[in-house]
Amino acid sequence: LWDDILKNIEETMPEGTADLWLKTCVPLSVMNDVLVIDVPNVFVKEQISKRFQNVIEDVLMDKGYAQSLELKVASEARKDEQQRAERAAQHTGTLPRSGLNPNYIFNSFVVGKSNRLAHAASLAVAETPGEAYNPLFIWGGVGLGKTHLMHAIGHYVLNKNNSLKVTYVSSEKFINEFIQSIKNNRTQEFKSKYRSVDILLIDDIQFLGNKGSSQEEFFHTFNQLHVSKKQIVICSDRPPKEIQNIEDRLVSRFEWGLVTDIQMPDLETRIAILQKKAQIRNYEVPEDVISFLAQNVPSNIRELEGALNRIIACAELNSEPITEENATQWLKDIIRHNSKGPVSVDTIQQIVAENFSLTVEDLVGNRRTSDIALARQVAMYLCRKLTDISLQQIGFSFKKKDHTTVLHAQRKISKLVEEQPRMKEIVDNIEAKL
Ligand code: ADP
Ligand code: MG
Repeated sequence: LWDDILKNIEETMPEGTADLWLKTCVPLSVMNDVLVIDVPNVFVKEQISKRFQNVIEDVLMDKGYAQSLELKVASEARKDEQQRAERAAQHTGTLPRSGLNPNYIFNSFVVGKSNRLAHAASLAVAETPGEAYNPLFIWGGVGLGKTHLMHAIGHYVLNKNNSLKVTYVSSEKFINEFIQSIKNNRTQEFKSKYRSVDILLIDDIQFLGNKGSSQEEFFHTFNQLHVSKKQIVICSDRPPKEIQNIEDRLVSRFEWGLVTDIQMPDLETRIAILQKKAQIRNYEVPEDVISFLAQNVPSNIRELEGALNRIIACAELNSEPITEENATQWLKDIIRHNSKGPVSVDTIQQIVAENFSLTVEDLVGNRRTSDIALARQVAMYLCRKLTDISLQQIGFSFKKKDHTTVLHAQRKISKLVEEQPRMKEIVDNIEAKL
């Protein structure tokens, strides 16, 4: 039966995919229309349930073998691991809650320089919803922990008072639901649903740009909640003023409470995050491998976590130890990809400072001697040229300079590079080192 299922599934996927994940599974039983299979660990279980569960269930039903599939992590040690995870979840009170990821709690969030303020503000809001900062607006690039913090607020509030109504929604979902409600003549229901919550966590608000009638609806929802002192938390990939095609009255409301950002974590924080993730997974990952990852996967935390998951999976599937050498092998494509990818602001600052014989401290600081000012402008120019980071965020990385300063630097250096061969040489030289 299992072989037959495997054969059927293989036909629907790229070659080798099903084999990689499913050959490590052992069918245990079919009872009451449920096929139970044994999977080697929690990670494989997650992957299978994400990628294969539906396909497998389709085949099961097609063939009349069973109606559904259950995945069991069966070996004793692994059972233990799962129980521990469940106990931990109970301990923190994170029962499955609709829309909230049970792993996104304050306890699992690592605090560093890059997210300290956002974390503190989130905690304050969670402790005294509607009182500390309303709304709380958190912005920053993808995969830096905004959604994690929002869910953490939700869990914290519910742990203290289970009767509160916490709603987490992405602005896309909000828009879709709103449009659907118009189609179905159910706008009243929609309005009362969102206007009656105690805490509204609304994610990726930038998608509200350009969406006229939904913006209008959100505006009224916001007002209603705000006057009744209900907490609103908003996340976005950019600061309020940079959201495109959004009404001024909304932008100004977004700035009523506290606006704070999350930056890319520094090396130290990246290491701490990896250690935390490995610890949560209950997995021993040697220190040198952790720091290897932190240094070589310099993009966002989601990708960093993906790299960690990958080496754990590879170690298990190949029954090999996690060493730096193996990790290099397993992450070949990710690391190669990254070294070609955009450089970080940190690196640009370091290399530029070196080239002008300055310290990074001087480069990003406020001193304005002509050589420092020029070096600073070159660094800003290169940040614009070599990264996708917004003006505002670059300004921030230079001790909170205004985005117009960055824009000015960009224009000035582009012009100099065009007009002065000597300048072009200097800039090209630095760029080659990056
Ligand atoms: P965003 O919403 O900013 O795109 P997410 O909140 O989805 O990012 O975070 C991406 C992943 O990184 C999640 O798995 C999250 O748990 C993890 N993460 C981000 N920041 C931290 C942190 N400071 N500590 C622990 N995990 C983090
Ligand atoms: Mg997010």
